[in-house]
Amino acid sequence: MKVTIVYDNEVNKEGLEAGWGFSSLIETKDAPPLLFDTGADSPTLLHNMRELGIDPKGIETIVISHAHGDHTGGLWGILELNKEAEIYVPASVRGTVPGRKITRVTGPLQISEAVFSTGELKDVEQSLALKTDKGMLVMVGCSHPGVGAIIDAASRWGKAYGIIGGFHGFRDFDRLIGLSLICPCHCTQYKSEIKRLFPDKCLECGAGLVIEV
Ligand SMILES: [Zn+2]
Ligand SMILES: [Zn+2]
Repeated sequence: MKVTIVYDNEVNKEGLEAGWGFSSLIETKDAPPLLFDTGADSPTLLHNMRELGIDPKGIETIVISHAHGDHTGGLWGILELNKEAEIYVPASVRGTVPGRKITRVTGPLQISEAVFSTGELKDVEQSLALKTDKGMLVMVGCSHPGVGAIIDAASRWGKAYGIIGGFHGFRDFDRLIGLSLICPCHCTQYKSEIKRLFPDKCLECGAGLVIEV
């Protein structure tokens, strides 16, 4: 399981650009690349993809966590280059993309061999649970439903191993005890507290970071 941070508020690799938003590429053995969220704007997203050697045309699945612009802004730029990708959005998201297969996700759903959606939680946001040999790796956009609720939802497929993404105002830090990998990104307000509490578990998020589990 390989996760590449493509778009984030911070930069982790020279040549990439930062922006307020989030996007990551998920690569598994058994399925084509999946893009989780698209950042706030196409130019930054596509620039970072180019620098990282990611071909937008090779993406077969795009999952949007929730309808906020810092996660959807780059979508149209990708769709201009990629005419095939299937799109998964939370059920509350309206609108269509002509000629595209769009799945509106309500409850828990398997997307590919090792990739699951928690379903739309609290009528706002879906997260992903990635099955690895070590347990479930949880991918979150902004965590508006709450990090604890998302970890609980993802745990239906196996014990949570780690979490990557934006935690927003989450501060119920006890919920992170037991995780082996914590990568607070994007909108996480209490990054420094989380790093202080879990120094040996935390990864420094930023565009260009590659996490292999
Ligand atoms: Zn956000
Ligand atoms: Zn948001």
